[in-house]
Amino acid sequence: MEYYSTHKQTSFTSLKQAIIKGLANDGGLYMPKNIVPLDNYIISTMKDMNFQQIGTIVAQSLFGDSIETNILEYIVNETIKFNTPIVNIHDNIYSLELFYGPTLAFKDIGARFMALLLKYFIEKEEVENINVLVATSGDTGSAVANGFLGIKGINVYILYPKNRVSIAQEYQFTTLGQNIFALEINGTFDDCQALVKSAFIDKELNTKKLLTSANSINIARLLPQSFYYFNAYSQLDKINKAKELVISVPSGNFGNLCAGLIANKMGLPIKHFIAANNKNNVFFNYLNTGIYAPQPAVETYANAMDVGNPSNFERIIDLFSSYVNPYQAITKQISGFSYTDEDITKTIQYAYDKYEYILDPHGATAYQALLDKSLSAKESGVFLETAHPAKFKNIIDSILGIKIPIPNKLKSFMEGEKHTIELENDFIEFKNYLLQQ
Ligand SMILES: *Cc1c(COP(=O)(O)O)cnc(C)c1O
Repeated sequence: MEYYSTHKQTSFTSLKQAIIKGLANDGGLYMPKNIVPLDNYIISTMKDMNFQQIGTIVAQSLFGDSIETNILEYIVNETIKFNTPIVNIHDNIYSLELFYGPTLAFKDIGARFMALLLKYFIEKEEVENINVLVATSGDTGSAVANGFLGIKGINVYILYPKNRVSIAQEYQFTTLGQNIFALEINGTFDDCQALVKSAFIDKELNTKKLLTSANSINIARLLPQSFYYFNAYSQLDKINKAKELVISVPSGNFGNLCAGLIANKMGLPIKHFIAANNKNNVFFNYLNTGIYAPQPAVETYANAMDVGNPSNFERIIDLFSSYVNPYQAITKQISGFSYTDEDITKTIQYAYDKYEYILDPHGATAYQALLDKSLSAKESGVFLETAHPAKFKNIIDSILGIKIPIPNKLKSFMEGEKHTIELENDFIEFKNYLLQQ
């Protein structure tokens, strides 16, 4: 498989180059040259397969000729060491629980896959000392750090906004040591993301250091996220509930939604998508007006969605670029909703009081969007529960007036010691830091 840049100002590139570079030379994002639909028959047999088997078929189609079959299978099997179950909440509403990975958020899938693939290329091609730069609003940092921990030849730099991630999130990437460096930036997530982007286009830095990104900018992190859309479909297909599927995605940088659209393009029958936003509603506004106007991010309870200029917007536009009227096609395929912290609070309270289901603040937006979309009885609504509620224990405890238990996995992180490097929101300072490493 070859990859092109969404800016189309540079030539096709290999998977190895795409994963190592992260961002294309022209500043665009990589996309697979061919998204080949899978045979309907194969999709219909997935209901009798396990998640690893499903993941392998999807991966073959997406990465196929770029990597030996047995190695790809190994990477998929290592990535998928946990399940992503579908849980019926009430009526025709289901939660796709994506929080059974090591850091209790959906990003574990993409991060583990990318780490293993990069490790493979490093060992095979004897590439030396790769520096992974990653901006995080909370969950990316932990998933990436844990995916890459201890891999020789890779240093990981995690930029996160000081005081704006939850304590549980922070401990998951600041306590690891080894090849993981946590940079505490005096700014917002958008500032962190801008610093990373500036680093990728800085000439001096790129001649002296091999840099790559592990944000959903990186195609190797994004594509594996399509695995669990297939897995979700198959679980519902098995109980004959997959005929008219509406999938609601809590969205920040839009990597997750993008992976769903790619699964759809690969032939997965998804009738409609919902992009659920918190107060950071740039995409919601785009759907309503046709105008994309990035805005500074504001802080919310669903902090992993506090993004004012979502990176993957470009990929979504690109996916619809063959339509005569892309905007019309996008609004037909995707609905948008936007919720305040007050709305999120009410939703979390409601789901718990009525159904004893504990939502996290991100999943809450997607669940509420499904309710507000008023599905027909024939439709099945699936919301992505992207993180375990205990990652946001303070918020959830205070809303529900209970003390939710902390899973052991999370507890062991909390016992570590926090180590960070504090930096101002200043590119020169960041650049000098990297050059001295
Ligand atoms: C990252 C994240 C999101 C947003 O996902 P995108 O792919 O950036 O749109 C939603 N929920 C949680 C818990 C996350 O960590």
